[in-house]
Amino acid sequence: MILGGGPGGYEAALVARRLGAQVTVIERQGVGGAAVLTDVVPSKTLIATAEWLTLAETAPALGIRDGGAGHRVDLTAVNARVRALADAQSADIRARLEREGIVVVTGEGRLDGPGRVVVGGETGETAYDADTILVSVGATPRVLPTAVPDGERILTWTQLYHLDELPQRLIVVGSGVTGAEFAGAYRALGSDVVLVSSRDRVLPGEDEDAAALLEGVFRSHGMEVLSRSRAAGAERTATGVAVHLEDGRVVEGSHVLVAVGAVPATSGIGLAEAGVTLSGSGHVVVDKVSRTSVRGVYAAGDCTGVLPLASVAAQQGRIAMAHALGDAVEPLRLDHVAANIFTAPEIATVGASEKRLRERGARYVTTTIPLARNPRAKMLGMRDGFVKLFAHPEAGVVLGGVVVAQRASEMIFPITLAVAHRLTVDDVAGAFTVYPSLSGSIAEAARTLHGAGEPRA
Ligand SMILES: Cc1cc2nc3c(=O)[nH]c(=O)nc-3n(C[C@H](O)[C@H](O)[C@H](O)COP(=O)(O)OP(=O)(O)OC[C@H]3O[C@@H](n4cnc5c(N)ncnc54)[C@H](O)[C@@H]3O)c2cc1C
Repeated sequence: MILGGGPGGYEAALVARRLGAQVTVIERQGVGGAAVLTDVVPSKTLIATAEWLTLAETAPALGIRDGGAGHRVDLTAVNARVRALADAQSADIRARLEREGIVVVTGEGRLDGPGRVVVGGETGETAYDADTILVSVGATPRVLPTAVPDGERILTWTQLYHLDELPQRLIVVGSGVTGAEFAGAYRALGSDVVLVSSRDRVLPGEDEDAAALLEGVFRSHGMEVLSRSRAAGAERTATGVAVHLEDGRVVEGSHVLVAVGAVPATSGIGLAEAGVTLSGSGHVVVDKVSRTSVRGVYAAGDCTGVLPLASVAAQQGRIAMAHALGDAVEPLRLDHVAANIFTAPEIATVGASEKRLRERGARYVTTTIPLARNPRAKMLGMRDGFVKLFAHPEAGVVLGGVVVAQRASEMIFPITLAVAHRLTVDDVAGAFTVYPSLSGSIAEAARTLHGAGEPRA
């Protein structure tokens, strides 16, 4: 029995079915979960439009003249495409589950003890007994009591896709991944954007050089970035919104997007009553094979607070089912996770971060190759970006990497392979890259690190 049909839930369902289990997925909103309906799929579809416009900004440098008309964004059409794509993806996943013989039940579920799930639907409540339960209920946007979303001017990211006019001046509160992605996208779509960041710089916790580069790009494109500025609340005004900062300043705009994190959807669904341990933040406490404190009850995805990525949710779900059904199990390893921030340029990372290596007191060598040096980047008119590698000083094993570039998400894979298979910088440098290519900079970085840990004469 799987409670929640997002990536944590539906990937688990497929594995469990393949291993011969009878599987039921309970989902209240739509199969695919928040990932497909409000988070990953819609945001990346919107960003695809923004990316096209960002590329078009380089047209003059490549000798293209637009004849004066320029491009205009029809947000109604953009959002209609976003919603249609998300709905189609959800329908595809549901059809796949049903084809595989998985039962999908629409309704709100809760645990009634460790071996039973009760589902409320239009026709009342139905109880299901199960020997294995996977809790994959995800998370919902954190709402500030002083900035309650109204879906019109004060918005969470789930409400953006119903706007039919481009915000004239969008204030984005929160400069984490979600805030940065939407701030960059709306700037490219044509809104004036103010990014309110409580920290010294955007993307706290990410690679410092990458975050600094992105903030520079944001500013150079006219985005107002307010650092060390904590929002106290937001209210509607006659013409738009006013965001009050804790230091007394007021920022005025037409709309505000509040992107200050997410809270797990774990309250009121019988978890504590069934004996499942929750953390202080309400996340389900799990081990590396997705077990909770109750035998037979597993948890996966954002409700566990392990790492809020669709890929991690899916992996936790698969591991849970393999463990529950007696298949071979590889415990979750977070040191190999590849992730991407879909800004312009994108920031892709894999393996150990520099912050982590420093915290661990690990010995490492590193190099950074600016993309401005790469011939293909020059031809494409790309100036902003770099490739950075971390490696063990003596063994030369690649420990991690960062790529900042347009479509960095597609460039990180060779580094992911190197990290996953413990390749050395010499292994990476010894493989051919196409000339000219952006990935040539990855091989160049690896070549630079050849013998970097050896004492110099
Ligand atoms: C704006 C944004 C962009 C993102 N972009 C990316 C990205 O590009 N790449 C990436 O890897 N990650 C991205 N993420 C993170 C990603 O969305 C999450 O990590 C992922 O959705 C987690 O999957 P999940 O299965 O845990 O939860 P969800 O996708 O949230 O699914 C949980 C499901 O459970 C259902 N549910 C909850 N409670 C109940 C109940 N009681 N009964 C029945 N059903 C219930 C919900 O309706 C929901 O459908 C993004 C997040 C945000 C906010």
